[in-house]
Amino acid sequence: MATTTTKTGQPLDRPQLDSLLRRRLFFTPAFEVYGGVSGLYDYGPPGCSLQANIIDTWRKHFVLEEDMLEVDCTMLTPHEVLRTSGHVDKFADWMCKDPKTGEIFRADHLVEEVLESRLKSDKEARGQKVEVDEEKEAKKKRKTKDTKAIKLDDAVAQEYEEILAKIDNYGGDELGLLITKYNIKNPTTGGDVLPPVAFNLMFQTSIGPSSNLAGYLRPETAQGQFLTFQKLLEFNQQSMPFASACIGKSFRNEISPRAGLLRVREFLMAEIEHYVDPEGGKKHPRFHEVKNVNVGLLDRKVQLSGRTEVTHMTIGEAVASGTVDSETLGYFIARIYLFLVRIGVDPKKMRFRQHMANEMAHYAADCWDAEIQTSYGWIECVGCADRSAYDLTVHSKKTGAPLCVRETRSEPLHIEEWQVDLDKKKFGPKFKKDGKTVEAAVDALTQDMREKLSVSLAQTGKIQVDVPGVGDGKVEIEKDLVKIEKRTKIEHTREYTPNVIEPAFGIGRILYSLLEHVYWSREGSEERGVLSFPPPIAPTKVLLVPLSGHSDFKPLVGRLSQKLRQLGISNRVDDSSASIGKRYSRNDELGTPLGITVDFQSVKDNTFTLRDRDSTKQVRSDEDTICAAIRSLVEGQKTWADVQEELPEFTQQETD
Ligand code: AMP
Repeated sequence: MATTTTKTGQPLDRPQLDSLLRRRLFFTPAFEVYGGVSGLYDYGPPGCSLQANIIDTWRKHFVLEEDMLEVDCTMLTPHEVLRTSGHVDKFADWMCKDPKTGEIFRADHLVEEVLESRLKSDKEARGQKVEVDEEKEAKKKRKTKDTKAIKLDDAVAQEYEEILAKIDNYGGDELGLLITKYNIKNPTTGGDVLPPVAFNLMFQTSIGPSSNLAGYLRPETAQGQFLTFQKLLEFNQQSMPFASACIGKSFRNEISPRAGLLRVREFLMAEIEHYVDPEGGKKHPRFHEVKNVNVGLLDRKVQLSGRTEVTHMTIGEAVASGTVDSETLGYFIARIYLFLVRIGVDPKKMRFRQHMANEMAHYAADCWDAEIQTSYGWIECVGCADRSAYDLTVHSKKTGAPLCVRETRSEPLHIEEWQVDLDKKKFGPKFKKDGKTVEAAVDALTQDMREKLSVSLAQTGKIQVDVPGVGDGKVEIEKDLVKIEKRTKIEHTREYTPNVIEPAFGIGRILYSLLEHVYWSREGSEERGVLSFPPPIAPTKVLLVPLSGHSDFKPLVGRLSQKLRQLGISNRVDDSSASIGKRYSRNDELGTPLGITVDFQSVKDNTFTLRDRDSTKQVRSDEDTICAAIRSLVEGQKTWADVQEELPEFTQQETD
C-alpha cells in the first residue's frame, strides 16, 4: 500500500477504512450471494447520498455556473456510431494470456507488477525501507513460493524506474518487447505468457428482436452529446462558445477490475463537451477569473525523461509559458481543481498529469488528467482532453450532417482565387458516362494546380488532368470546354467545425478518493473513525439525539426533525439507549457533520446544543437560531468557526 497520511498525520489504515465502509454500507460488491462479479458494485444509503451530493455540487459548479446545456443521452449506442468514432477499432487495452493456465493479464499491469516487485525485492536486499501494498502482497503470498530478496544491477534498477514512469506510453508491440527483454512471466506459476493482443473494452449487444442492429453499451457519454450538437447550437441561438453536459452510466469490460471502485465495469460519468472556435488560440472569455489558481503539473517531457516531479504554478503562467496549450484547456484544469477542493479533496494530494503521445486516446490532441493520491497510488479521476474537431468531423463525413458553425462575418471576406468554368453543354456529350468523374477531378484541383493549368491552357489550348479510373488515368480537356480565371470571391459567412475541450469525471473514483482523504481516527482510539465530509457533501447533515428515552423529549425531537426536513436538510434520529458519546461516534463514521442534543433544559426553554463532528465542540441557542446556523453550514455559506464565534459555547462533556 502506498503510504498516505490522514489529516492528523497518521498513516492511513486502509483495512480499517474498508471495514468502516462495509459496515456502514457505503458500497458493496454486487450479487454477492451468488459469489459476486468482479468490477460490479452496489451503493448503499450513505453511498447513494454521497454520490447525489457530489453530483449536485457538480451541477452547481459547472452546469449552473457556466450555463451549460445538460442532456441525457441513451446508453445503448448503434454499432455504426461507434465505428465512425473509432471505438470499434481502437477502444482497446492490451492483454496477454498464459496458454497453460488460461489466466489473462492486462499487459501493462503485468509488466508494472513484475518490475515493481523486483524493485521492492532489490530494496529489501539493500536493506532499504519498502512501502507495502497490502492487496498486492496478500495476492503474492497466496501465489509465489520464492520470497528471497534479490539485488538488481544499479543500471537495471534505473531502467525499471524509467519504464514505470512511462508505463502508460507503451503500445502492444513495445509491451511485448519488454516482456521478452525482462523475462516477464506469469507471477503465480512462472509460466510464459503469449504476446499482447488488443482486447476491445466495449460490451456488445443487439438492439431489437431481429438481432440485425448491432450495438454497444456506451463506453463514454460523449458520442451522444456530439450527435446532438446541431440541435444544441440552434437551441443556443447559434451562439458560440457553448458547452453540453451529460451525467450517466458508462460501461467498460475491463480486463482486470481491481482496487474497489477505482477500476470497475460500470460507472457513473459526468462529462462536458465545450465547443470552441479553433481560430484565435482557443481563448476563454472567463480565463481571467481563474488565472491565479495554483496547480501542480506533471508534463509529458518530465515523464519521458523517466521522472515524476510536479511543478507548481498558476494556470495563467502555465498557459503563458505554453506548458498548457490553450486558455480553454487551462480554464477547465483550474475549474476541475476548484471543484475537487470544494467537495473535500485534499489539494496537497492532487496533480494534473499530461498524457504522453502514445497514451492519448485515438481522438485526443492533448490531454491532462486530474490525478488524486490514494493508498493505491496516483489515480486518474478526471480526464481533460482536447479532442480537436475529430468527432464532429468524422460523424459529419459519414452522415453528411452539417456538424459545423455558420457565422455571418462582420466584414465580408474578399478572396482572390483561381476558378474553373466547364461548358456543361459540350462537356456531357464529350465525356458521356465519365462526365461526373472528370468534373469531380476538376473541382478537386488545388489553387496551385489551377494556376499552372491556366498557363498551359493559354500556351497549348488544352489541359491535362489526372482522373484515376478513366482511360489511362489522364484526361485532356480542350479550351472550348474549359475556362480558368483568377477572380475575387466575396464571402459573407464563415463555416467552421468547432474544437472540443472535454472534462470527463469518473464519479466513483472521485467518491472513493474523497473517502480516503476525509477519513481519520480520533487520537488514542483508532477504532473511532471519522469521515470529515464538508457539510454540503455529507450524506446526512444532522443527527438528533434525545438525552434519554424520556417521553418529554419525543415531541421536541419530532418537531425539530420536521422543521429540518422542511428546510431540505436531511437528518436522522438516534433514540437508542446507547450513551450520547457512542451515538455520536456511530454517526462520525457516517460523516454526519452536526448533532443536536435534546435535554431537560430544552424542554424548559426550547434551547438546544449543536455539536460539530470534527472538533466535538458544542454551542447552545434557541431553536430558530440553531436551525438558521445549520442551514448556513450545510449550504456552505458559513464555517463552524463562524458559528462558534456567533453563539455561546456549551462546555458539558460528551459521555462515552
Ligand atoms: P477516459 O474517458 O478514459 O478519460 O475516462 C474518464 C474518466 O472515467 C476517468 O478519469 C475515470 O475517472 C473514469 N473511469 C474510466 N475508466 C474507469 C473504470 N474502469 N472504473 C472507474 N472509473 C473509470
